[in-house]
Amino acid sequence: MENNTQHYQVIAYYFYTHIANAEEMVESHLKFCKSIGIRGRIYIAEEGINGTISGTVEACAIYMHELQSNPLFTGIEFKIDDYHQHAFNRIHVRYKKEIVHSGLRDPKEINPTIETGKHINGKEFAQLREQEDVVVIDVRSNYETRLGKFKNSVTLDIENFREFPQKVDELEQFKDKKVITVCTGGIKCEKASAYLLKRGFKDVYQLHNGIIGYAKETGGKDFDGSLYVFDGRVSVPINEVNPTPLANCAKCGTPTFRNLNCANVECNEQFNMCEACSEEMEGACSDTCKSHPRKREYNGTGYYTRPPVEELMQLK
Ligand SMILES: [Zn+2]
Ligand SMILES: [Zn+2]
Repeated sequence: MENNTQHYQVIAYYFYTHIANAEEMVESHLKFCKSIGIRGRIYIAEEGINGTISGTVEACAIYMHELQSNPLFTGIEFKIDDYHQHAFNRIHVRYKKEIVHSGLRDPKEINPTIETGKHINGKEFAQLREQEDVVVIDVRSNYETRLGKFKNSVTLDIENFREFPQKVDELEQFKDKKVITVCTGGIKCEKASAYLLKRGFKDVYQLHNGIIGYAKETGGKDFDGSLYVFDGRVSVPINEVNPTPLANCAKCGTPTFRNLNCANVECNEQFNMCEACSEEMEGACSDTCKSHPRKREYNGTGYYTRPPVEELMQLK
């Protein structure tokens, strides 16, 4: 069991840079992560690196220092959240053709290190989005924007970012406006904004460090709902200024910020449910799951970062 008095961090980062020996780097990087007890998901490609990791504060400091002292990653930035435990069960370091799957993988076509939308920070974003003739385009997937998004932003009905290029036709009407792309941590915007420029959009900006960075800088004003994240936390609160729930409880229909994994380990489905109904359902999404023999104990959060070992072994 994790020691709750210990302090952990969850760190998200990405960096577009040319890594000539990306495939070889995977192995040494994995070894390094294991040696300091870092867990998470890290992708390395010729075009750069992208990761979300968790570890003790000490381990995270060593990790960040290692990357920062590598000349390949000069200028890399980290988005750091405090947490009470690991947000991952394991460490994965994988070689990929792209650090985020966009279908825009030809560096001669789209290369964020050469041309991309103008980076604006959270404060600049807050000012700019108030102006007329400015359109905020959320380039995340539908299951993410259903849970949370900026007021008055344009969202796309896509299951995966690689569908983004096909959806740009729908955005033609905004071609002559100021367009700001937003995503979770900024990585998708690097390519999305570059692609919009390529398609003839005139004035393209991107929210630097994404919604996570914006929340840290500004308190997250006007972001409705909560932010979907790709780790054991499932979703995180973003807006401390004027929070407004966006999703509805699957049982009683009241608006809720809460996104849970079903307590039934065989279901594990993500769904929205208010606190009271979750208590009543013991963290299950349905009556069937509630009475299922493999239902995990509900601890009030609906986050199961560490399924019991025997559960994992039964699953695989
Ligand atoms: Zn409810
Ligand atoms: Zn279920």
